[in-house]
Amino acid sequence: MKTKYNEFHCPLCTSKNLDLFLEDKTRIYLRCIFCKLVFVPRHYWLSPEDERATYDLHENDPLNQGYRQFLSRLSAPLLERLGLKQKGLDFGCGPGPALSVMMEQQGRQMDLYDPFYYNDPSVFDKKYDFICATEVVEHLHNPNKEFAALFKMLRQNGWLGIMTKLVIDENAFKKWHYIRDMTHICFYGRSTFEYLAQRFNAEIDFVANDVILFNKK
Ligand SMILES: [Zn+2]
Repeated sequence: MKTKYNEFHCPLCTSKNLDLFLEDKTRIYLRCIFCKLVFVPRHYWLSPEDERATYDLHENDPLNQGYRQFLSRLSAPLLERLGLKQKGLDFGCGPGPALSVMMEQQGRQMDLYDPFYYNDPSVFDKKYDFICATEVVEHLHNPNKEFAALFKMLRQNGWLGIMTKLVIDENAFKKWHYIRDMTHICFYGRSTFEYLAQRFNAEIDFVANDVILFNKK
């Protein structure tokens, strides 16, 4: 099984040691033996146009109470850990940034970055006290490069807050609504985040089932 997929490598840790995690009607999902990332090979990705069209449907209204409540599961534990007037980045903010509005109401200004809606590459040359990526990392095309960029933009002692649903096991994965979204191409387990913490010299705190905080040492 392992040798069959040796034309691929893990898009996060570059290992070629992969196995087939699941094959369904639409895609295959490979799992990296080393960092435990489950990923969809490029061949099965949507075109950039179709990917963008899917995001255009997710209009997130910053004034929507349910959506604010959803985001507060990241913003609340983050705010407990941030100093006053610290500056952040909402990475992959989407078409209607909501988190930055909520954080600004708490006195923390945030820059916006999104490859489709706020494509301002100058953010990559800046340093931030905190960075948020809510419902973003499952969409990353090149998580190896993109996580390296995120940790580079983070100041020492800075916080990186991630929201994504975690892979539990094969059985749960098969029935998971999360894999039906064709823009979701990377799926992380707890050990994938532990790998990232070690690689980028950060402490990690799983503050909820789908909320992970890294503290850069
Ligand atoms: Zn890997």
